Amino acid sequence: MEASSSESAQASIPEAGLKTLVIASGNAGKIREFASLLADLNLEIQPQPEGLEVEETGATFAANARLKAIAVAQATGQWALADDSGLAVTALGGAPGVHSARYAASDPARIARLLAALEDANQERQQAGLIPDRSAHFTAALALANPAGQVVLEVEGHCPGTILEAPRGSGGFGYDPVFLVPETGQTFAEMDKALKGCIGHRGRAFAQLAPRLAPLLGA
Ligand code: IMP
Repeated sequence: MEASSSESAQASIPEAGLKTLVIASGNAGKIREFASLLADLNLEIQPQPEGLEVEETGATFAANARLKAIAVAQATGQWALADDSGLAVTALGGAPGVHSARYAASDPARIARLLAALEDANQERQQAGLIPDRSAHFTAALALANPAGQVVLEVEGHCPGTILEAPRGSGGFGYDPVFLVPETGQTFAEMDKALKGCIGHRGRAFAQLAPRLAPLLGA
């Protein structure tokens, strides 16, 4: 399988004592995935405070993950884990990319816009004598900030796949129903949660983070 992940940066770890972890996200789908990924770590998981909006002004997933982790750690005085993630479609020049959440007003509308844009792009490719290209990849950048608001760990995970012409499956969230992982023959929305946790972008990023969380865990 081609799915890949890479570590980006890691600052020196200033302290231990991680017992409570705030998930710096308002996205219920992401929070569900994190709760399951973190289940074995004996941490108290909390959602971010209601009404806390962090503007995602970064140009990259990693920059936005840092912004969210720092803002939530500072607002709560707790350890905060942020994820910035999204879908990059090759024939769309990497769109929707860091704008994945803001591409339209709802998940069905985001999917509809994506499929229409990809049809147009592939028609243009064919008119130019090129073969259609439905390849894409998801990225998840994770940042962990300590209660002082310093980012102590950063990782990034990727999962390559293909955009289907129509949605398939009823699980997951976001673009899951149109994202096929060819090696499995399934979309993320058809896939068992545990399998997405292994081969998905968030799971791959988390696999790098987990061993580095261990030394930080409080007694
Ligand atoms: P943000 O990281 O909160 O800015 O939003 C990421 C957006 O990317 C989500 O709202 C989804 O639309 C999309 N996305 C990120 N991860 C996934 C995933 O695992 N499945 C489907 N869509 C995702």
